[in-house]
Amino acid sequence: MQEREPVGMFVLMGRAINERIAAHGHGKELVLVCECADGDCAALIRLTSEQYRKVRQGHSFLVKQGHESSAIDRILARNDSWLLVEEPDALKSPLRMEA
Ligand SMILES: [Zn+2]
Repeated sequence: MQEREPVGMFVLMGRAINERIAAHGHGKELVLVCECADGDCAALIRLTSEQYRKVRQGHSFLVKQGHESSAIDRILARNDSWLLVEEPDALKSPLRMEA
């Protein structure tokens, strides 16, 4: 079995990708990547650049409907296809990892 990467790494990667997409898609519909903790997730999320700006105001993550981890994520907002979840504790204290 492969050793698992810390959850936070994938989440931050997804967010960085989305930031770049949004930077080039001003005023358009954006096709973003799911920011869930699954490193193999390739789900796409569509929202307008306007919606994205609102979503990105807090320290929250955008995940596809059903990709939230009920153990770590607190849902802040939901749409019919995506959810906005609170930053996982794993990111707030990256040195502390659960066994
Ligand atoms: Zn996902």
